[in-house]
Amino acid sequence: MNNKYELIYEGKAKKVFSHEDSDKVIIEFKDDATAFNALKKAKFEGKGKLNCLISARIFEILISNNIPTHFIELKNENIMIAKKIKVIPLEIVLRNTAYGSLCKQTTIKPGTILAKPLIDIYLKNDELNDPILTKERIELMNIISSKDLDLIIDLTLKINIILKSFFKNIQLQLVDFKLEFGYDFKNKILLGDEISPDNCRLWDLNQKNDTIVSLDKDRFRNDLGGLIEAYSEINRRINEFI
Ligand code: UDP
Repeated sequence: MNNKYELIYEGKAKKVFSHEDSDKVIIEFKDDATAFNALKKAKFEGKGKLNCLISARIFEILISNNIPTHFIELKNENIMIAKKIKVIPLEIVLRNTAYGSLCKQTTIKPGTILAKPLIDIYLKNDELNDPILTKERIELMNIISSKDLDLIIDLTLKINIILKSFFKNIQLQLVDFKLEFGYDFKNKILLGDEISPDNCRLWDLNQKNDTIVSLDKDRFRNDLGGLIEAYSEINRRINEFI
């Protein structure tokens, strides 16, 4: 990235730079992958580009469905321009199918279709290992008002309806996903971060039997191999459909 832009923040998978307009930022998607709170790390050439392209398409779909997001435009294959937001330190996970931590922490069997979407909220705090929260704990920490929390939950449920149906059209089961929100300069809540196979579980529905074929970051978490092939397949199906 051109050094006229100041690096504001570097996360595990993205770098955020200043923009000439103070209400915008430049987001560069990196090829780095981390799992289990960065205990496991690797680099996959081309992952940044694929996640940036996939996220941009998904944001466009959400925007056309009246979901407020930070996305403005793609600058190039691994860089997007977004509205500057003050990130709310909560990770909002929505689950349609039981998998991952839900099955490790409960007696619910992996693959169980949930009767209604389950929303789990975690504190975005690596030092504390992103603990799961309750509404009461969120209130005690004064992170956001209960009105804004309700708004975020409502937006997450709406996003799920849009994405579940979109992914089904391209033969993918939206198992679960994680969202992050923030406030823009007018204090309006916007969807931020990214929506990609790094933070969504997507299972291939083009399977004759019931075997689970993950086309998401579980390929890295569970050492399945073929991460770039899986992300490329998602990108290919999205572009073919749109
Ligand atoms: N997730 C994420 N970042 C995190 C934790 C989870 O993007 O720090 C996503 C993950 O990709 C999955 C969903 O949130 O789509 C639910 O993850 P889960 O709580 O099952 O945790 P995991 O099994 O990844 O530890």
